Amino acid sequence: MPFEGVLGQLRPRNILRNALLNNKMAHAYLFFGESSVGRKPMALELAKTLNCKASIPGDNCGQCLSCKKIDSGTHPDIYTVEPEKSSSSVRLGAIKIEALRELQKKLSYLPYEGNCKVAIIDSAELMNPQAANSFLKILEEPPPNTLFVLIASNPHQLLPTLVSRCQAIRFMPLSPSETKQVLIQSRDKGEFEASDDEIELRALRAGGRVEQAMDDNLLAICERRGELIQLIGAAHLSRMDVFIRWSKSVAKQSGEVPALLTEIARLLRDITLLRSCGQSALITNADLRPQLIALSEKKKLDSLIKMFKAALVAQSDLGSNFNAQLSLENLWIEFCNAA
Ligand SMILES: [Zn+2]
Repeated sequence: MPFEGVLGQLRPRNILRNALLNNKMAHAYLFFGESSVGRKPMALELAKTLNCKASIPGDNCGQCLSCKKIDSGTHPDIYTVEPEKSSSSVRLGAIKIEALRELQKKLSYLPYEGNCKVAIIDSAELMNPQAANSFLKILEEPPPNTLFVLIASNPHQLLPTLVSRCQAIRFMPLSPSETKQVLIQSRDKGEFEASDDEIELRALRAGGRVEQAMDDNLLAICERRGELIQLIGAAHLSRMDVFIRWSKSVAKQSGEVPALLTEIARLLRDITLLRSCGQSALITNADLRPQLIALSEKKKLDSLIKMFKAALVAQSDLGSNFNAQLSLENLWIEFCNAA
């Protein structure tokens, strides 16, 4: 899959191709932006291009042995360092110093069969301080014929000294039509099953992230939207008991809470858009347009904005390990207050 195979990300692709064509590659790149928007596939395309046997200027053939080995993860000169996965938690662990020491040892050898070794540090923000300092030393005296690609969601979580040694390239979320194309490609390859209508809905709701678009739970949560619209519509201080009971029962299934909060924020975004400028083309819950328009007509714009902000705060609180029930109760208090 040559560079064009990474859908969207035109700007990152052009930066990299210009550098390749003009022989001005940096020795370290930082690809940053939300996960599942093409950062790692782009790093692998770069690795393929640097090692391709077909000599295509600024691109790779995707067909030679080297390209195929990189696609299958068996090329001996391409190294990926990732956080340790823990079976007891959905959260990723840290990247520890041992992984960086191992990488440094491997990079001290000449390339086995390629032109250039490529080291990809995935989720680089999860390097613990010792690992980050160890990596900084590697970058300060980089081994020859080696390209580093750091992949991170948020560059502010990396050591500034590390960031300053990399050329940073931002990756934006995909557009719904790009997400749709990725889903159709995956379906054509037999990796994913969905009808055209389902693909349309998934692409609209995935926030530009492919992993999200393919998530089994993405559409399951759609069935809860009616309930959420009713609750948003009923928000009033005289009805707090309803919301406390709802929060208590939902918090028992704490795994559902992040998805429900995302859904509440998404619905409020749509209702606010409809209330403020009637922009129904921009809404992500297009299949619920009539209900959302009806609700938008009953609410004041400043109330909707306050509710939308409260939903974002609740998401952030939950990400900081706040108690799920308290986060939800706080959200409804804010909603009732704003109504
Ligand atoms: Zn090739």
